[in-house]
This record gives sequence, C-alpha cells and structure tokens, in this order.
Amino acid sequence: MKILIVEDEHKTGDYLRLGLAESGFVCDLASNGVDGLHLALTGDFDLVVLDVMLPGLNGWQVLERLRRGGRDMPVLFLTAKDQIEDRVKGLELGADDYLVKPFAFSELLARVRTLLRRGKASIEASVLRAADLELDVLRRRVTRGGQRIDLTAKEYALLELLLRRQGEILPRSMIASQVWDMNFDSDTNVIDVAIRRLRAKVDDPFEPRLIRTARGMGYVLEAPEASV
Ligand code: CA
Repeated sequence: MKILIVEDEHKTGDYLRLGLAESGFVCDLASNGVDGLHLALTGDFDLVVLDVMLPGLNGWQVLERLRRGGRDMPVLFLTAKDQIEDRVKGLELGADDYLVKPFAFSELLARVRTLLRRGKASIEASVLRAADLELDVLRRRVTRGGQRIDLTAKEYALLELLLRRQGEILPRSMIASQVWDMNFDSDTNVIDVAIRRLRAKVDDPFEPRLIRTARGMGYVLEAPEASV
C-alpha cells in the first residue's frame, strides 16, 4: 500500500513518513501543495495524508483539483486546532476523514487503516453481479451478457437493491421504502408493475431468469447456481 504525505513542516512530515514506513507502508513525502498535487495525480497512491495549511496550494485546493482530476483515493486531512470549523469545508470537498493536530501516531495509523479498508470495499462493490448481469455503480450502467440495458431511474434503483441483497426475499413494503422512499398500502401494485417492467428488460430476453416472485412474500434476485 502506497501513501502520499503532503506536509510542509519537516518534523511532522518525517515523523509521519518514518512511522508509516515502519508500519509497512510505502511512503512519498511532498512539502508543498503543488508538488503534492502533481504526485497525487501522476503516482499510484492508495491514500493521501494532506495538511491544510501548505505553501503553494493549500490542502483544500489540492483536494479539489485531485477530485476534479478523477482521483478518488481516500484523503485524510490534517488540521490545526484553530481550523476545526474549516474541516466541514474539507469534508464537503470530498475529504474522507480529518485529524486534528497534534495527534497521536496510533490514532493516525488507525484512521489510515480504516480508510484503506473502506476504499478497497468500495472498489470491490462498484460492480454488482448475478450470473451474466452486471450493474456498474459508478457508471450507473447495466449490462447482461455484455449487452447494454437502458433502465429508468426507478428500475435502476430497484435492480440495485435486488442485486445488493441478492438471495434475500425482499418484502414489497421494504422495496417501497427503499426505492420510492415512501410507504405503500399492501394492495398497491406499483411495485409489481415496476418488477414486471424490469423483468421485461433484464430477464425476459435472457436465460436464466434471475428475478423470482416469492408468493405472498416479495421478490428475490438470485442466480440459479447460487441457490442450494
Ligand atoms: Ca502546514
């Protein structure tokens, strides 16, 4: 795992680099915002530890340009105590966590490990699959057998829910609250209609069928080989 540290105070920078290296991470250190941004955009880092007050570009500017440049690795902000109010700004710009200086190294290490685990989980979960059906969460794209399928926003949300909870029977009331954000009377057929439309697109033209009706209970999406 490779970590970029952007910190202009040499003492803090060296302390972080040494500590993280001893903990098994490969580290690069930049001492100003311009170098930090350049390294973050061109290097292959799994995480950035980013100081806010930096010469050249400050931490927010670095983060903003990093996100605009399409880099979505986790960013841990380091803020001084008197900048705590500003952490909101950092979080709005897409920082994943922040740590107030002075901090204990053990605290930093714990945050770094959590962010790296989370980052990995979100990458793994960015494509949801069942048999040859794929839903790419980041691109909001659905394919089956490599064939692109166009869905409405509701159909997409419904399919995403079914895929995330595949193998589980989802009651209509649960689908209603998750996809329509409201409660339906049990006799409404809005969900059944939406399921029928979704099936017509993702199931009817293909084999095997993935969306099953659990009579009187709800719906379940399941690839046949996954069922016992
Ligand atoms: Ca600083």
